[in-house]
Amino acid sequence: MLIHSTVAQTAAFLEAPWQGTPEAGDQLWTSVTLDSRQIQPGGLFAALRGAQQDGHAYLAQAAAAGASVALVETWQQEVPLAQIKVPCVRRALGRLAQQQRAAFTGQVIAITGNSGKTSVKTLVAHLLTHLGAKVLATRGNLNNDLGVPLTLFGLEPQQTHAVIELGANHLGEIDYLAGLVQPHVALITNVTGAHLGEFGSLEAIAQAKGELLAHLQPQGTAVLNADDVFFSYWHKQLKDPSVQVLTYGLHQGDLSVAAEIQLDLQATQAILCADQQRIPFTLDWPGQHNLSNALASLAVLQALGCPLDEAARALASLPEQQGRLHQFTTYAGAQLLDDSYNASPGAVKAALATLALWSGERWLVLGDLAELGEASAAIHRELGQEARRQGVTRLFALGQDAALAAASFGEGGRVFTSHQTLALALKQELNPQTCVLVKGSRRAGMDQVVQHLTASL
Ligand code: ATP
Ligand code: MG
Repeated sequence: MLIHSTVAQTAAFLEAPWQGTPEAGDQLWTSVTLDSRQIQPGGLFAALRGAQQDGHAYLAQAAAAGASVALVETWQQEVPLAQIKVPCVRRALGRLAQQQRAAFTGQVIAITGNSGKTSVKTLVAHLLTHLGAKVLATRGNLNNDLGVPLTLFGLEPQQTHAVIELGANHLGEIDYLAGLVQPHVALITNVTGAHLGEFGSLEAIAQAKGELLAHLQPQGTAVLNADDVFFSYWHKQLKDPSVQVLTYGLHQGDLSVAAEIQLDLQATQAILCADQQRIPFTLDWPGQHNLSNALASLAVLQALGCPLDEAARALASLPEQQGRLHQFTTYAGAQLLDDSYNASPGAVKAALATLALWSGERWLVLGDLAELGEASAAIHRELGQEARRQGVTRLFALGQDAALAAASFGEGGRVFTSHQTLALALKQELNPQTCVLVKGSRRAGMDQVVQHLTASL
């Protein structure tokens, strides 16, 4: 953390009442947690009310673990722990996080979009670290109104950059998060149809992602995807003349790649075209969509004034991403493309395009795509046809919606009712000529199919 305040100072900052002994008011708090089991001595415990649990019930536990103070919505008189009472603990956490952000003197990069946020965040953090920067990056996928504040509490004086992922499933959310983050560089990756059900239309998704741009710092840089349908829409929203725009795209934009691209299931070779430079590079993650993600990350590096040739070199040695097009040899010597982490319609198409790089038999294991609203049935049917177009010969579906994909796929499509039976059927037929792509929304838990396959290796 950058700012260390006492309990009394924090209450004053939040314009909120507090209770506790006078000595407790002078106590500093030095960390934040939402989980009383993880409280560190001197920490602030935020008592959140969720659908299942109420953090207020755990104040005594937080006190016993040595917390300095709790943020509460209702006093817990019987607990001997200093308490600051606020109307909304989530919002109060946001304000405290904003205070930390305001004290940060490094560069802040905010990343939003339908797909590829975590991938690009990982790429940007990796490239910056390779160039010697001290980077704070969002841990895992902590991209919501709790995750973003928690990330900002991780700011430390020695850090030079913060790379922060912002997620949303309704309008106004990015506006709020971007207001906390106040980025110098703002990137929108794309609209691929994730959370279509909640937003109602692709236009509404684009609008939600565009909320980021209004929070760019003066002289900041907007990084936009020239290949996305909503590129011009976002571009037009940039009203501050001091803001720079950097664009990227596979075949258009300030950063792009030359026509000759070598894609295979392990890696991609391409030549970066930026200004007058042509820089050959190897990208350790497969798939054309990861090439787009890599260009996005290089554009961010360019926006930060980093040398592109040095940065591009670091794309050859990337950390493994569990569940995101992770390729390995599995049961019976077959190839597995584990993309089970999550899925949107665009992400399934991107993964199918990657599967099509396999010259042998291509099989798809598909779980339901959630959160697609009324369009869901039509989208699942369309994905079955897309699988056919990409040369898939077998489709193993799990769930009612995925069954529609199997039906439109036609011959070679089968429907299962459990991960286990699906995995068993797969195991009976896998052979070294097959490559099987496993995909579905997080809710479909398709990683369980991967586990069944790998457990029996
Ligand atoms: P979440 O909304 O869950 O936070 P995210 O935006 O962080 O997702 P990633 O975790 O990077 O996205 O990738 C999730 C999946 O999205 C990947 O497995 C891949 O299938 C797909 N994906 C990643 N990048 C792109 C892209 N540029 N275009 C289309 N699909 C992509
Ligand atoms: Mg993510």
